[in-house]
Amino acid sequence: MNAIEQYIAPTSLAQALECLREGEVTVLAGGTDVMPQSQSGRLKFKPTLMNIQRVPELKGIARDGDAIRIGALVTVTDIMRDTLVQEFFPVLVEAGDHFASDQIRNAATLGGNINNASPAGDMLIPLLVLDAYAELAAKPNGEMRVRRIPLGDFFVGPGKTRRAANELLTGVLIPLPPPNHFARFFKFGTRPALDISAISIGIAGVRTDHLLSQVRVAFGAVAPTPVRAPRTEAALEGKRLDRATIDAAAQAAYDEVRPIDDVRASAWYRRELIRNMTKRMLDHVAQA
Ligand SMILES: Cc1cc2nc3c(=O)[nH]c(=O)nc-3n(C[C@H](O)[C@H](O)[C@H](O)COP(=O)(O)OP(=O)(O)OC[C@H]3O[C@@H](n4cnc5c(N)ncnc54)[C@H](O)[C@@H]3O)c2cc1C
Repeated sequence: MNAIEQYIAPTSLAQALECLREGEVTVLAGGTDVMPQSQSGRLKFKPTLMNIQRVPELKGIARDGDAIRIGALVTVTDIMRDTLVQEFFPVLVEAGDHFASDQIRNAATLGGNINNASPAGDMLIPLLVLDAYAELAAKPNGEMRVRRIPLGDFFVGPGKTRRAANELLTGVLIPLPPPNHFARFFKFGTRPALDISAISIGIAGVRTDHLLSQVRVAFGAVAPTPVRAPRTEAALEGKRLDRATIDAAAQAAYDEVRPIDDVRASAWYRRELIRNMTKRMLDHVAQA
């Protein structure tokens, strides 16, 4: 473990951003990635450790115009219990239900899950199919600057994002869904609980008179980042959700993913899972 020279716990976003501007900082939220990763040697602490738990601007879930804003410090448990989330984005509750254990969910924040940028991060797949935006703030020259980027553009590799070193993720914005919107999440691990995904799938869209539109499909743990699946989306967009469409989309998903072999599953098994589970999820949507 590296030596931490300074520990700070800012009480405002402005203070936190000043700290990020001034030096090399490790951000600590719930610590459920930071602590195990520092103990295993995967994460080397920077000279300053900044605990952001007391920054009020990073908390809460609220309506923000035509979107819902979820603060970076909101935990998986908070998400699952929130009435706005339950009403507009039940797929996030579904994903929370597959996330670790109660103890981890109580500490694990949404901002931590996003910034850890694991290809298997469970909240990332539903957020991708919900067209979420990442909100980032910095204070490069004394003035607060906030930018929003589509979450699909945020991830660049395992553990790597487009967040600049002087920026903090302040939250995510999720556009309110249109009428007749559906969104589903599926995760497969080698154990029923407390497991990292071998694969995960998110599917969302609008279904009117049995025709699909605004289709979004995303896969986890099949590439260096969580990914959208444009060929699978094209196989569904504008189509009637019948047997032929479902089979074509499941085959497109199989053809489109290029997973790797690792300790959790072989590439062959992952592709089979993607095909079979895409089919099963679409069957469920068709029957709903
Ligand atoms: C036993 C166990 C089981 C787990 N199971 C799952 C699971 O089922 N699914 C899953 O997806 N994950 C799982 N995880 C991983 C972890 O719990 C999640 O990724 C969690 O959401 C991380 O949030 P945190 O608040 O603990 O982040 P931290 O550990 O505090 O931080 C994670 C990373 O994000 C950075 N960071 C945090 N907040 C911000 C911010 N606002 N702005 C900029 N950078 C920030 C930190 O510097 C660090 O790099 C598990 C972990 C453990 C230990």
